[in-house]
Amino acid sequence: MPLPPSPCAFDAPRNPHEVFNQTPPLQDFNAFDCDAALNEGVVRAGAGFALAQLSEYGARTGSAEVTGWGFEANAFPPRLASHDRNGRRIDLVEYHESYHRLMSMALTAGLHSAPWAAPRTGAHAARAALVYLQAQVDAGHGCPLTMTFAAVPALKLAPALALEWLPRILAKAYDPRNVPYFEKAAVTIGMGMTEKQGGSDVRANTTRAARTGSDRCADTYELVGHKWFTSAPMCDAFLMLAQTTNGLTCFLVPRWRPDGSKNGVELQRLKPKMGNVSNASSEIELSDAFAWRVGDEGRGVRTIIEMVAMTRFDCMLGSAASQRQGAAQAIHHARHRAAFGRKLIDQPLMKNVLADLQLEVEGSLALALRMAQALDEPESESERDLLRIGLPVGKYWICKRSPQHAYEAMECLGGNGVIEEFITARLYRDAPINAIWEGSGNIQALDVLRALAKTPGVEAAWVAELDKGLGAHPTLDAAVERVKAALLAKEDPESGARDLADQLALTMQGSLLAQSGDRAVADAFVASRLGSRSDRNYGSLPRGLDVDAIIARGDPRV
Ligand SMILES: Cc1cc2nc3c(=O)[nH]c(=O)nc-3n(C[C@H](O)[C@H](O)[C@H](O)COP(=O)(O)OP(=O)(O)OC[C@H]3O[C@@H](n4cnc5c(N)ncnc54)[C@H](O)[C@@H]3O)c2cc1C
Repeated sequence: MPLPPSPCAFDAPRNPHEVFNQTPPLQDFNAFDCDAALNEGVVRAGAGFALAQLSEYGARTGSAEVTGWGFEANAFPPRLASHDRNGRRIDLVEYHESYHRLMSMALTAGLHSAPWAAPRTGAHAARAALVYLQAQVDAGHGCPLTMTFAAVPALKLAPALALEWLPRILAKAYDPRNVPYFEKAAVTIGMGMTEKQGGSDVRANTTRAARTGSDRCADTYELVGHKWFTSAPMCDAFLMLAQTTNGLTCFLVPRWRPDGSKNGVELQRLKPKMGNVSNASSEIELSDAFAWRVGDEGRGVRTIIEMVAMTRFDCMLGSAASQRQGAAQAIHHARHRAAFGRKLIDQPLMKNVLADLQLEVEGSLALALRMAQALDEPESESERDLLRIGLPVGKYWICKRSPQHAYEAMECLGGNGVIEEFITARLYRDAPINAIWEGSGNIQALDVLRALAKTPGVEAAWVAELDKGLGAHPTLDAAVERVKAALLAKEDPESGARDLADQLALTMQGSLLAQSGDRAVADAFVASRLGSRSDRNYGSLPRGLDVDAIIARGDPRV
């Protein structure tokens, strides 16, 4: 017979496992509809036609199902099967089914190709918004999506080769089978530039290419050498750099030769990475690997830079997306969690932190979408000039701001934030990577100098865009004057390149937000980022700002 409960001096919970004051997962919400900055931004960038598609997509990326795919793709990382059981090389990377689901979802929606396949005003901005939603689920699978998207402008430099490959690249489909490209209706493309002895300085590449003849697509070569970082090695082909007798040259290297035999692209191992875990990054050796030449011999950097420019654009987008995910998680948590008798979201200091995180998102998204808009106007010289400097400025600034942002968002969740079952832990591990690959911070800052020195219209295009935001905020006006003076300073430019890139990025973000018309956001951004203090942590916004309005813009309200 059970004993009666013993009398107790206080009213203890009957069930010690009763859970309360824990935040429900942020899922089964519409990640687009609840995002005010994104909704307004796509309309401003000329992609209003895509609102319905984006809303539909946001419902999917916010669903428990798709969110779960992101977790699974990271919990079960890709594995290398280098040989079969009989000792033959197979060079196969096996991914969890959820990675394939994410890839399929993105590729069938055209995230890798839509603006090239169906160009129209706003096409790049619409695609950018889709990528922004997708990247919030998982950053890793974005790598092959981005490389496939980015390969298109470079491949067009070899017209006959493009004729063969582009229909498969542009197709809205995903075919992960490890079979020759000509048996597939849809393919993905990777990139191999970095070698052991040099990544930023690709002129140090030692991989050699020897001409073997030509076919209906292009001149053909064999490559011997290695690549130190080749991500997404199950891509169907890779744009690679190798040395010919005329210097560094760009090639398209397929996984399978045109005769249907396995190409000499041998995976040595997969990198054990701290982040970007769902994406495989490999070390490879090239043993007489078949390749087609893309662009002229000796013009390899000039050719592949067409691809690199686009991957840098996507780095900026990806980091903005991870900031959005972090801010949304932080606001969501603060709305549900109470401490010291009040919800966190009602506590003044937490409001300051949350609003500051959201301000960062607003600035990042505004700059990224402005670059998308410039991509949508390739005929305009001033837009091309704006893009030329805006890509390194944006890639440098947005990617570099992300680790601290992810850390602060994580801290908003307290201890839970560092636990792998919460996405904030993954956001933090992933955050530094976009700043390093596709040209690290210094390389971007130096590229800003190069753009200013070598492309005559760049400075005027940037200043003209900055000037559009003048008049509403004396602090912004003063910062724009300072940056104009900094552009004139010629002394020791390399040493000051980061300082200049910082100023260019912050003033442009301030100007774009001032132009966008949301007074609360623009006032707070300018007051907190363009005033006198620069050594601040998140959460030190000056008093008197409309922090509630700013937080509401980022609140997923679930
Ligand atoms: C997860 C991951 C995946 C990757 N995937 C790929 C891939 O698929 N394909 C590919 O080709 N590469 C890939 N990379 C490689 C990446 O692009 C390089 O690591 C990056 O370009 C830096 O090159 P590095 O590692 O050789 O560093 P280094 O070039 O040695 O640079 C080291 C540091 O020196 C700085 N530096 C270099 N030159 C200067 C200078 N002149 N002045 C001041 N500072 C300078 C750099 O900014 C950097 O901080 C990947 C990297 C990572 C982390």
